[in-house]
Amino acid sequence: TNPALIRNFSIVAHIDHGKSTLADRLIQVTGGLTAREMTEQVLDNMDIEKERGITIKAQTVRLEYPAKDGQTYVLNLIDTPGHVDFGYEVSRSLYACEGALLVVDAAQGVEAQTLANVYQAIDVNLEIVPVLNKIDLPAADPDRVREQIEDVIGIEAHDALEISAKTGIGIESVLDAIVERLPAPAAGDPQAPLKALLVDSWYDTYLGVICLVRVIEGTLKKGMRVRLMGTGASYGVDGVGVFRPAKVTVDTLGPGEIGFLNASIKQVRDARVGDTITEEKRPTTTPLPGFKPAVPVVFCGLFPVDSAEFEDLRDAVERLALNDASFSFEMESSAALGFGFRCGFLGLLHLEVIRERLEREYDVDLITTAPSVIYKMTLTDGSVVDLHNPADMPDPVKIDAIAEPWIKATILVPDEYLGGVLKLCEDRRGIQRDLTYAGSRAMLVYELPLNEVVFDFYDRLKSVTKGYASFDYQFLEHREGDLVKMSLLVNEEPVDALAMIVHRTRAEMRGRGMCERLKDLIPRHQFKIPIQAAIGGRVIARETIAALRKDVTAKCYGGDVSRKRKLLEKQKAGKKKMRQYGSVEIPQEAFIAALKMD
Ligand code: GDP
Ligand code: MG
Repeated sequence: TNPALIRNFSIVAHIDHGKSTLADRLIQVTGGLTAREMTEQVLDNMDIEKERGITIKAQTVRLEYPAKDGQTYVLNLIDTPGHVDFGYEVSRSLYACEGALLVVDAAQGVEAQTLANVYQAIDVNLEIVPVLNKIDLPAADPDRVREQIEDVIGIEAHDALEISAKTGIGIESVLDAIVERLPAPAAGDPQAPLKALLVDSWYDTYLGVICLVRVIEGTLKKGMRVRLMGTGASYGVDGVGVFRPAKVTVDTLGPGEIGFLNASIKQVRDARVGDTITEEKRPTTTPLPGFKPAVPVVFCGLFPVDSAEFEDLRDAVERLALNDASFSFEMESSAALGFGFRCGFLGLLHLEVIRERLEREYDVDLITTAPSVIYKMTLTDGSVVDLHNPADMPDPVKIDAIAEPWIKATILVPDEYLGGVLKLCEDRRGIQRDLTYAGSRAMLVYELPLNEVVFDFYDRLKSVTKGYASFDYQFLEHREGDLVKMSLLVNEEPVDALAMIVHRTRAEMRGRGMCERLKDLIPRHQFKIPIQAAIGGRVIARETIAALRKDVTAKCYGGDVSRKRKLLEKQKAGKKKMRQYGSVEIPQEAFIAALKMD
């Protein structure tokens, strides 16, 4: 295709502002799908994505649009993941585009992820077309939102389009704007050595890894031998094609074009997003600017509830990793929980999504330990080590200093909830950096220790703002802090899965909270059970679970045998979900619930 007739674009938006609905509508009106074929939300094809309204894996579709000038244009829509945890994937997808549609809900206005996503697009120099969606809603106020886009984001918005992705109003104007307002890709030389960007990769059961690529120069063909310049590996190209949205093979992909190749690549780790693809026998001399692998920042242990399911978990984890290069895992064994995996995630949402997929798609019941971040420890011999499992903490006498990661959080919240959010941030050791207003919404910027955010910050924020706040963050740096390892002892024995690293000023409160919760969560036994939180050898909080006085069945006054049996059966079923720890049984909910804070 002549590059002058190509437009490569993404849609950026805050969650729920209508990105997927608009994408589906564009596919529909350009004839990619009939209305009948267009079952709900074509692009979000994973169940969890549908339920949570987030897009995890970027997907792409090629549309053909006969424009007003009589020419037929090829429009490549790259659907980017919309969440901060997948920021690196977002930025890589944006590199493959020349422009972006900025979709803003005309009733809700600009939100935290609107800002985060549009700034990424601006950073890679994309032309931005603002689109005000949901103008069919009675509460829509496009003029106010236009003003907000100009004030808060700082881009021109007087010519923002007014549309309803749901009813179809204004969809043609979006297609015309893509053609008229977005630049065409640079006209690279189709004869030059191949230079293509690996935009995304995912695992397909039939074809192996599929690589989404954007050709910059040269021509990609079936049968060619290509090399991934970052990893050095080379592969024979089995197939080349595009998504419309169904997979369609094509003969070649030339400069400016976006499509896929498959080459019997075994795992996504071998096809890293951001790598440069070139021809093996005639390589380009100038690879694209270096790419950084996505690094996990939040870690937690995943253990099967039933230890007999360990092999199933291993299988599931390995299969998941095939398709998600940013998810890392290694085997871990815990005295409390047996064998499991220590897993690394890009952020909290990523953790939740993976945990849910393991439980749902692979059908394993999991115990998740407290999420932890990466601490940098300077040891007395001068070496610096990364710690991502509190259980591996070196002897405190060997540690000179511990540094923890800090983030910069942006929170948008309606006025009336501001007080609650300020208190929450202050409680979590936050440092306020900015407080401004955008209409009746406050925009707060806080620096926060990630350690305080990984527990239940999202949940708390949601509850103090009745769901009206939006939140986004980015990493700042590691900063030294007075951090200590807090152990939890049940019946005098430390339970490794409940150990955590906390700030000294927060240890007592945290310890007391955990002891109180465990007291309610662990059932009574025939003996008294002390529950303690300790730093080193010093106990900072303590609760005691009283011993059972009589046999449980005594409750069923005398005669009723069937009731007695039912009670015993219930207990037996309950037991399956317990973990025998020393002489004490700890129910699985205890591991999760104990970590929540008030
Ligand atoms: P995404 O998270 O940005 O992909 O948002 P979705 O496309 O999933 O849309 C979120 C919700 O808004 C869904 O319930 C849509 O049906 C709804 N929605 C999307 N566009 C419109 C619109 O133009 N008008 C109205 N009333 N609802 C819309
Ligand atoms: Mg979506």
